[in-house]
Amino acid sequence: MSHQSDFLVVGSGIAGLSFALRAAETGPVTILTKKARADSNTNHAQGGIAAVVDSKDSFGLHIGDTLTAGVGLNRPQAVELIVKESPESVRELEKWGVSFTRKDKGVLDLGREGGHSMNRIVHVKDSTGMAMEQALLDRVRNHPRIEMLEEHVCVEIITEHHLTGRKRVPGEKTHCWGVYALNQKKNEVVAYLAGATLLATGGVGRVYLHTTNPPIATGDGIAMAYRAGAMTADLEFMQFHPTALFHPEGDSFLISEAVRGFGGILRTQDGEAFMKRYHAMADLAPRDVVARAIDAELKKSGDDCVFLDVTHLKPDQVRSHFPHIHQKLLSLKIDMTREMIPVVPAAHYMCGGVLTDLEGRSTIEGLYVTGEAACTGVHGANRLASNSLLEAVVFSKQAFLSAVRTLEKSPPKMPEIPEWNDEGTFDQEEWVLISHDQREIRRLMWDYVGIVRSDERLERANRRIQLIADEIEEFYKKTKVTAALLELRNISCVALLIIRCALFRKESRGLHYTTDYPNRDDVRWLGDSVIQENRTFLWPLAQELMF
Ligand SMILES: Cc1cc2nc3c(=O)[nH]c(=O)nc-3n(C[C@H](O)[C@H](O)[C@H](O)COP(=O)(O)OP(=O)(O)OC[C@H]3O[C@@H](n4cnc5c(N)ncnc54)[C@H](O)[C@@H]3O)c2cc1C
Repeated sequence: MSHQSDFLVVGSGIAGLSFALRAAETGPVTILTKKARADSNTNHAQGGIAAVVDSKDSFGLHIGDTLTAGVGLNRPQAVELIVKESPESVRELEKWGVSFTRKDKGVLDLGREGGHSMNRIVHVKDSTGMAMEQALLDRVRNHPRIEMLEEHVCVEIITEHHLTGRKRVPGEKTHCWGVYALNQKKNEVVAYLAGATLLATGGVGRVYLHTTNPPIATGDGIAMAYRAGAMTADLEFMQFHPTALFHPEGDSFLISEAVRGFGGILRTQDGEAFMKRYHAMADLAPRDVVARAIDAELKKSGDDCVFLDVTHLKPDQVRSHFPHIHQKLLSLKIDMTREMIPVVPAAHYMCGGVLTDLEGRSTIEGLYVTGEAACTGVHGANRLASNSLLEAVVFSKQAFLSAVRTLEKSPPKMPEIPEWNDEGTFDQEEWVLISHDQREIRRLMWDYVGIVRSDERLERANRRIQLIADEIEEFYKKTKVTAALLELRNISCVALLIIRCALFRKESRGLHYTTDYPNRDDVRWLGDSVIQENRTFLWPLAQELMF
């Protein structure tokens, strides 16, 4: 059984939805999404989208801030692209129905976040992502050419090596024909085929014990693309958000950086405003600096958390700027206008991903990757706050333009795709094994592959997770697929890729800090750390990416 459309999109966050809305103007689109349509990192974004829309701001300043945050590893063309497209992206989002917060005279209200030298964060109060997700979903719902299939979890990308009677030759150029996906309601795996496939599966936060990411963020796209032979890159650069709520019922609720932009101050238990000791920008220093500073303070004091203090600000303004955060904290009996907020760092954003060029193309023909699952070169060794929603919108547009051009030039000749073969597998899922393995991997990643690393810790994590991953693979071969098993398999794969990238890079830069190589080394390490088919190598920055 198979299903065919012009465009196939995996994922219903900002990257997938914005691509789908554009693509539907030229042909039928199918969107597969593994849970309910709004379940995504996008839906949780609070701060906003960075854009140069103020006359006092300039492209040069935004580019400069992005390059500073990325510590020499950004690809300048990718940065220039998103920054120059930022005003148009905001206009397009408004056209799609997003009502950004404006001031009295109708001018966009611009927030400030860490690492930005200007106020340039366009936002919808403190629930920007939810507003975007809802607006785009409304559009998609009413579009006659878009079919959205919820509860469809993508299992594998279909390439040459799935074709009957054909052996995959390592290193050969592969083509993507679509994906196999599990319809969870019917419990069957179906081939979804298309001329162009977009992977927009989001991030990997759930690989770590503490994360701001919702449960969908299990790195499925990165793992699937890697298994299909694509290049993945820069996975050592995991951004830890400095301020997730520390509360037993908080489930790593994020306290947006905009709170510090608005005047919030980080303090130790005894009230010291410690960030001045770590960086000239104090509380508005780049995220990696703030996360490491908190980590160092906690190690020094032995405390469980530090505090974010806004009690010196006007309560009315705090309530009106951060209604969502204020309400959430009140529900946990914390009044942020009168009490300090307990916070800890948590895994937040993956800067690396599937390596793509300026058109969003991966190294597999016909497979585009955008959003958090991609490594476009925009973020380098550290993401500047609020650049990710922008990157997703801009690169999804690039991917759409490229896909249309390619399909017009050479319409795909779809080979015969075999049905999913689960002969010899059984229903034998044991939930205890799955939840136990998942907890163990996430704990190991938190303990040994976190904010501060060393070769010894990374080797230890590698040995232990490899053992678990081998067992999972054995189990997978014998078992009928389920969403939980697929996610576990992907988490173990991405965890190993992160560790290998971290072991490969023998320097400290941006989000990757190792006590064995505490300095930055521009002579040896100015490039992307790439993994493909078990091989790790450096792709120099000086060498353009074009697939
Ligand atoms: C708490 C929080 C706050 C943030 N705040 C900001 C901010 O203020 N500004 C900013 O720029 N960025 C922010 N970010 C980051 C930003 O939200 C994400 O990088 C961005 O939304 C990613 O969009 P995406 O479309 O790539 O992925 P997502 O929005 O995560 O969407 C991924 C989609 O893929 C689906 N999916 C995954 N695997 C499969 C599979 N196997 N089969 C089928 N479907 C699958 C998921 O269900 C989901 O629909 C924040 C992130 C978090 C978690």
